[in-house]
Amino acid sequence: MTEPTRAQLAARDAEDALSRFRERFALPASVIYLDGNSLGALPRATLGRLARVAGREWGEDLIAGWTTHDWMAMPLRLGDKIARLVGAGAGEVAVCDSTSVNLFKLLSAALSLRPERRVILSQDDNFPTDMYVAQRLVESLGGDHTLRLVPAAEVAGAIDDEVAVAMLSHVDYRSGRLHPMDRITAAAHARGALMLWDLSHSVGAMPIELAGCAADLAVGCGYKYLNGGPGAPAFAYVARPLQDEIRPALAGWMGHRAPFDFDGRYRPAAGIARLLVGTPPVLALAALEVGVDLLLEADLAELRRKSVALTELFIALADARLARYGFELASPRAPGERGSQVCLRHREGYPIVRALAARGVIGDFRPPDILRFGFAPLYIRYVDVWDAVAALAEVMETGAWREPEFRHRAAVT
Ligand SMILES: *Cc1c(COP(=O)(O)O)cnc(C)c1O
Repeated sequence: MTEPTRAQLAARDAEDALSRFRERFALPASVIYLDGNSLGALPRATLGRLARVAGREWGEDLIAGWTTHDWMAMPLRLGDKIARLVGAGAGEVAVCDSTSVNLFKLLSAALSLRPERRVILSQDDNFPTDMYVAQRLVESLGGDHTLRLVPAAEVAGAIDDEVAVAMLSHVDYRSGRLHPMDRITAAAHARGALMLWDLSHSVGAMPIELAGCAADLAVGCGYKYLNGGPGAPAFAYVARPLQDEIRPALAGWMGHRAPFDFDGRYRPAAGIARLLVGTPPVLALAALEVGVDLLLEADLAELRRKSVALTELFIALADARLARYGFELASPRAPGERGSQVCLRHREGYPIVRALAARGVIGDFRPPDILRFGFAPLYIRYVDVWDAVAALAEVMETGAWREPEFRHRAAVT
């Protein structure tokens, strides 16, 4: 590919069907934000929505707000919206808790659905929280269960008749590898196992077909491509036929059949509602709803098409302009095997990411040597990709990354 000029890319932005979404976000003018896969940007409408919900609904209506504004219904109402982003049906998604807590609930539910099987299978380089949750769940069950970890590419082949549930990230948080959901889910089912997908790095960046793949269980994150805000609630999906059979190990009054009966005995609600535990975080749900509504306005196929075009452009420019400085591509080269992020590998990754951030280009670093760049297709432009690579080339050419101030590790990288 011949390198495009910046002017050609600006023309491409002008024609882009999704370009109108960028102005719906409050992005600082001096920043190129390639970290929306870690914390999504702020939708402009979120500020007004929060002011309304806090100022008017809470401030004026106080406890009546639970009924007047139907706050109680938010977890499932918002779940039905997210269902449209992940190819699930109404009543198959609940919005609650964090991704970590939802993993715990769904893994324990999966074990209860396959009592004769004793193995949770996952990838050995999964996002750490996914592994910690599985480790402690297995330990807490008294020694009969095990967590079996294999390289991600070997998960499908490692499912045997001891595996109760296989858990995999749809898009790997570090490499950006996109796993074929249909093929791996079918492999799990062929061996009688359940399949649990972590959609944290794919939801909001591409169409997902949970029902189309007959996936059993899934979780996903609200603060990445869904732009729900720092620590936004997460979601959990349970395929309809399983819902009334699951017995998650964590229960609370919001998942009771009749919370306001104050019944002393837990009787699970019918359907997806039994995944709810505590009182809905109304302010956080309101903010998340704004992000989800924005995505529902976009055509998801168009979103994926742009995401692929952005990552292809970044890789082409990096090949042409950065290889000479010792960068290597750490993400799959085939676009069909890649999510909406590109990772480069470099021995001095950390100070390079810091020096880049000092120039307003925000990516992040994952040990030991990964520079990670996310391309949220709703608000990243083609010219941003060009400018980011130019800044990276300049950081290397000038040796700016060698400044001692860039070596000091911040608490959140
Ligand atoms: C971001 C992410 C999480 C986040 O979990 P929290 O409980 O929200 O902190 C979990 N798993 C994966 C794969 C992620 O990418």
